[in-house]
Amino acid sequence: MSRKSLVEQYTEALPTSRKLYERAQGIFPSGVTHDSRYLKPFPLYVVRAKGSRKWDVDGREYIDYWMGHGSLLLGHNHPEVEAAVHEQLSRGTHYGACHEKELEWGELVTQLIPSAERVKFTSSGTEATLMAIRLARSYTGKTKIVKFEGHFHGWHDHVVEGVMPPYEVPVSPGLLSEVVGSTLLCPPNDGQTLRQILRNNPDVACVLIEPTGASFGAIPTKGEFLQELRQITREHNVILIFDEVITGFRCSPGGAQGYYNVIPDLTTLAKILAGGLPGGAVVGKKDILELLEFKEDREWNRYKKIAHPGTYNANPLSAAAGVAALRIIASGEENKKADKIAQHLRSELNSVIDKHQVPWKVYGDFSGLHFLFTYEEDQKVPFDPENFQYDYRKLKGGNPQLFHAFRCAMLLHGVDVTTTTLTSSAHTLEDVDKTATAFDRTIALLKEDGLID
Ligand code: PMP
Repeated sequence: MSRKSLVEQYTEALPTSRKLYERAQGIFPSGVTHDSRYLKPFPLYVVRAKGSRKWDVDGREYIDYWMGHGSLLLGHNHPEVEAAVHEQLSRGTHYGACHEKELEWGELVTQLIPSAERVKFTSSGTEATLMAIRLARSYTGKTKIVKFEGHFHGWHDHVVEGVMPPYEVPVSPGLLSEVVGSTLLCPPNDGQTLRQILRNNPDVACVLIEPTGASFGAIPTKGEFLQELRQITREHNVILIFDEVITGFRCSPGGAQGYYNVIPDLTTLAKILAGGLPGGAVVGKKDILELLEFKEDREWNRYKKIAHPGTYNANPLSAAAGVAALRIIASGEENKKADKIAQHLRSELNSVIDKHQVPWKVYGDFSGLHFLFTYEEDQKVPFDPENFQYDYRKLKGGNPQLFHAFRCAMLLHGVDVTTTTLTSSAHTLEDVDKTATAFDRTIALLKEDGLID
């Protein structure tokens, strides 16, 4: 009898996920509710999660490295976060009014994030970058924005340019050419080109960056570049926005800006900010966020103030989860734990790669790791911060087909990874060992299936 293929094994092992996916196809485009959850032949359906683990509809257990798309630095359902949400739930989920939890939440943010003189809550990271750009445009009276190739800032029209190779083409159609033309792209880590762009375009309002590099360091950025960037933007009178939606409260309690001690004018936050519930924020200089203020001046309020409604801004449940999570994170211990596990994981997985002699690399910084399936020996290692010379155009996008097969094989072996795999402070050394074993078996399975040499 011939052996079963990866797809056959996966289909046989997850029958209920498959059934639910069939139902989903009649409801959602491609049956999914987030592009990155799309998986061939069908995605995973989960019923429960705790700590570093989650369980699917077929009762299978997984070590989870999605960690709520990066929102769960403390792992799933940390007891203090869970208790805070329960307590808030019993008092109501939406008051349509101000509440004390939003004050506590905002105060914690200003204490932890160095650039946060003022805070404005939004419902998501996408809304936060949209608002940050609007603030920058309004404050400077200029229109264009600069972003770096590969960097991800959400899905609104102003930032879907230059996210995936080929970087010249936005990741979505349906955009106005004027909007596309107003977002200028700069190669990552390239101060010289940035200076040139700013010299040639006096109408640039802001520069936006993921401070540890595209997609949490899939294309790494060094701390020195952030300092250079701070200097360049200051020289050209351009607003510097750190998009810390993923790095915020993760690289350190003060985010990447706290870690590298480079202070932007504006910062966008989400994910960990709201302890695993929906929420985002724009924070930054008082005189910029002042543009959101009401004044005793009808002219100002009607013509100059930036409008900001939003049904779920500072939602009480998100505020309760956020306050509980940030209080725990404030000491910095959780960040260190998550970083240490990730470092160990990167090193264990690279040992497995060496054993199998496949042209892969695992790299990353802080509590993240990325899989590179096309590692070229003639290039310098991408994760060596001293020698970062890897062609950045080869670091994102890769081979989606192989990634689907890789993810299915890892799921078969009890591990759920993604393109930006993240650890939490709930992950353990035992999780790392089990993941390394799953990775070992996965490579063997992909070889047996003829998907890799
Ligand atoms: N910016 C960055 C750096 C992100 O990682 C994300 C989400 N992955 C966003 C913005 C968008 O956030 P949201 O999904 O909450 O809209």
